[in-house]
Amino acid sequence: MRPLIAHIRLNHLRHNFRVLKAIHGGKMLAVVKANAYGHGAVQCALALRDLADGYAVACLEEAVQLRQAGIELPIVLLEGVFDAEEYAVIDQHRLWPVVQTQWQLETLLAHNWQTPVSVWLKMDSGMHRAGFFPQDYAPAYYALAQSEKVADIVKMSHFACADEPENRMTNTQIRTFNEAADVLPGEVSLANSAALLAYPETRRGWVRAGIALYGASPLGGVDSRLKAVMRLESRVFAERVLQANEPVGYGATFITQHATRVGLIACGYADGYPRHAPIGTPLSIDGTRSRVIGRVSMDMMTTELADYQHVGNAVELWGDSVHINEVAAAAQTIAYELLCNVKRAHFVYED
Ligand SMILES: *Cc1c(COP(=O)(O)O)cnc(C)c1O
Repeated sequence: MRPLIAHIRLNHLRHNFRVLKAIHGGKMLAVVKANAYGHGAVQCALALRDLADGYAVACLEEAVQLRQAGIELPIVLLEGVFDAEEYAVIDQHRLWPVVQTQWQLETLLAHNWQTPVSVWLKMDSGMHRAGFFPQDYAPAYYALAQSEKVADIVKMSHFACADEPENRMTNTQIRTFNEAADVLPGEVSLANSAALLAYPETRRGWVRAGIALYGASPLGGVDSRLKAVMRLESRVFAERVLQANEPVGYGATFITQHATRVGLIACGYADGYPRHAPIGTPLSIDGTRSRVIGRVSMDMMTTELADYQHVGNAVELWGDSVHINEVAAAAQTIAYELLCNVKRAHFVYED
């Protein structure tokens, strides 16, 4: 069996949930969109069913998958519907759609609901990606509130720069939101992971925690309160000795400076490891840190072996001794993308 394994530690997921919920103090949605950021949506949702106040997913298909797995807690659809027919399935499964466009609002009100629906009404408080402008928010709110089809409304917004604790845009967005929404009754949902950690004033109502649940700080670096849920592990499965001045891998981008033992690792960009990880990106061989040399190829990558490292040694690509934010920084991306991309690995769930 190819030795690439994504160990998913569900006890770490629960630990992170408890830590984040204690920081927040209010209700918390576990964001399990995109297959729980690559960790397995059903397994993660089931592991949190005694702790979570609800879940958030991107779309109807992701929500139905959770319902079919027996999840009965509230599920928020973060993008709302793409077709008006989806409201019938939302009604059947008692899902909570976000409404972020006039078209979503009108089709929701036109639908023949069996049970009044709970709506999350999104304001564009400055990110300018989705939601009603502040001046259009109260009219949208009252259009929903006055309908018997609507059970209740949660007022929500999303931040553009919450992962930058010094950026004043978040404070501006909070003020914009408060000015337009405070006069309207109902619960509030503002914070993602970054806002929860960096902006205490966003700890109101429902928090929507994603990346931090999986143990990666959205602020970069390492947050010692969180535990990595995924440990991506492979093995050195071949080695060769090269003399000085020999190239390694595609493009011959790495040239040995001295006699070097090169280890071959079963992991490549087809598994989701970033092809742009440069020479020097950290990894760990049997607990000792080493580095990527040469280009990452589709199925394999190469590393430098110390005298005491050999074929058969375990390699941690990220997890406990190599933090995923280190790999993300080296490859000029974010932990979110690395986690979402993991595939072809064997997934092993541990408790
Ligand atoms: C994905 C998402 C979140 C979760 O964000 P994290 O940064 O992973 O905590 C929260 N809110 C919305 C609207 C999202 O789309």
